[in-house]
Amino acid sequence: ATKPVTITITGAGGQIGYALLFRIAAGDLLGPDTRVRLRLLEIPQGLKAAEGAALELQDGAFALLDAVDVTDDPGRAFDGANHALLVGARPRTAGMERADLLSANGGIFGPQGRAINDHAAEDIRVVVVGNPANTNALIAKEHAPDVPAERFSALTRLDHNRALGQLAAALDAPVGDIRNVAVWGNHSATQFPDVSHATVAGIPVPNLLTTRLEGADEALQWLAETFIPRVANRGAEIIEVKGSSSVASAASATIDHVHDLVLGTGDRGWTSAGVVSHGEYGVPEGLVFSFPVTSAGDGADWAIAEGIELDGFARSRIDASVAELVGERDAVRALGLV
Ligand code: NDP
Repeated sequence: ATKPVTITITGAGGQIGYALLFRIAAGDLLGPDTRVRLRLLEIPQGLKAAEGAALELQDGAFALLDAVDVTDDPGRAFDGANHALLVGARPRTAGMERADLLSANGGIFGPQGRAINDHAAEDIRVVVVGNPANTNALIAKEHAPDVPAERFSALTRLDHNRALGQLAAALDAPVGDIRNVAVWGNHSATQFPDVSHATVAGIPVPNLLTTRLEGADEALQWLAETFIPRVANRGAEIIEVKGSSSVASAASATIDHVHDLVLGTGDRGWTSAGVVSHGEYGVPEGLVFSFPVTSAGDGADWAIAEGIELDGFARSRIDASVAELVGERDAVRALGLV
């Protein structure tokens, strides 16, 4: 049997953590042949919830689950970790200024980046779920100088999956037939869900929309006024309808992200992830920005899709998200967090 893979989950006592843990233990993250050891990191007030989840994991009698440890010590939590799922973050509360939010999260993701740097396994891969995810990933990466920057990513897969869901509904098409949707930018309202290169069973989505909406201008209007805002504001819609934020879908997207990185995107085309820019598509170097990506699997890093033509509309949307992320980076620099 192969060596078990060590997975550290922060904020494991929270809602998303609760939805994540059982799917990981069931083999949804790394496949049915890979045993896993879970390390649950919490802050002291979250420990009881994480301990409770650990008891329930034992009661699940998962054949692939080797061990579960609960701790509030980042050094122990990341010791030998192969994957880190950084879920715990300081949420924005009423009256909180952006600087307060960034500095509270800097106090979480800086030390975690350092602990990853010092204790994680050689092949560590990190995905940041906790918001503001892109900038939290930037902070963690900056505190882990010995870990290649490509190992850090921020979750935009939920945005990507939301875009797939909306497109499938609008075109009455199976999600599985859709390829090459992309989410560009920040995991925020400035994100740009882009279907201009997408296809359904090989047919370009712009053509399908033009036919269905009876005109190319109508299709563009639907994208700008209905589709993009619906995807970008879906989190708020969920809160309004169910009275609390998305949990199972966020956990599911986290599973998809790591699963596709490790096992590869195969012939399924692009997915989306926040990764460190090397200057691709005019995005400033070093920013954690969502791009269309693929993975070759088997230890590969995310690869940013190449050669995509951007029209004026796409350019202006991407530039707006760049401006927002540059602003966040400037703010964390001014606060001395990176
Ligand atoms: P959740 O599990 O619901 O959310 C956790 C994080 O995920 C939040 O930052 C949240 O951002 C983010 N998130 C939610 N939806 C999405 C989405 N659609 N896409 C991307 N990110 C998303 O929060 P809980 O309060 O239930 O749990 C948080 C836990 O973290 C608590 O148990 C707390 O004790 C713990 N914690 C642990 C830390 C640590 O291990 N060092 C540090 C800080 C907290 P948003 O707020 O925007 O919804």
